[in-house]
Amino acid sequence: MDNETLKHLCETADSFYRRGYAFGSTGNLSVRLDNQIWITPTGKPLSALAPEHLACLNLDGTSRNENRPSKEFPFHLAVYKQKPEARSIVHLHSTYTVALSCLETFDPENPLPPLTPYYFMRVAPLAVLPYFRPGSDELAAAVERAAPSHNCILLRNHGLICAGTTLNEAVDRAEELEQTARLYFILRNEQARHLTPHEIAEIHQAFK
Ligand code: ZN
Repeated sequence: MDNETLKHLCETADSFYRRGYAFGSTGNLSVRLDNQIWITPTGKPLSALAPEHLACLNLDGTSRNENRPSKEFPFHLAVYKQKPEARSIVHLHSTYTVALSCLETFDPENPLPPLTPYYFMRVAPLAVLPYFRPGSDELAAAVERAAPSHNCILLRNHGLICAGTTLNEAVDRAEELEQTARLYFILRNEQARHLTPHEIAEIHQAFK
């Protein structure tokens, strides 16, 4: 067990809670260490967790310790199964992302306008999945289908899932998505300047 990584996971969870990205007992984070998944526990706020509170699972979902994992663990396993390079997953019900996911006038092919380069560097392409009951096998199956081609997934009427090759990368993606959704609502009734296709192509060239 890599205790530093688990401590970092707990500190990151606490930071999300303190900054309002997570509230109540919502949100869950996990890291993969070799073939073990360490995930935040069910029914507890993301604040003030310690490594001994984390649940440990095998990749097939069987428990390796006595702590009960978040009920949303099936989609964490689905992402790790499809993305061997993934080492961390962040799932949040952060307000602006959830607001975006609830819009009736929503275009799943084009969920956010091209407002900043950072959205393209950290988030895009953003997969959009239809609504499924949280914790359901159907949700995990849909996530499993989207995961090979996406690091960031928006769940209709629910929230976000972001994967990374490190915990910090997954965190950066989740924060960027939440802040882009926030910008979208701030600018929704303004005449915002959008990045041009040329400017977007230039970002892809420079950063991919
Ligand atoms: Zn959730």
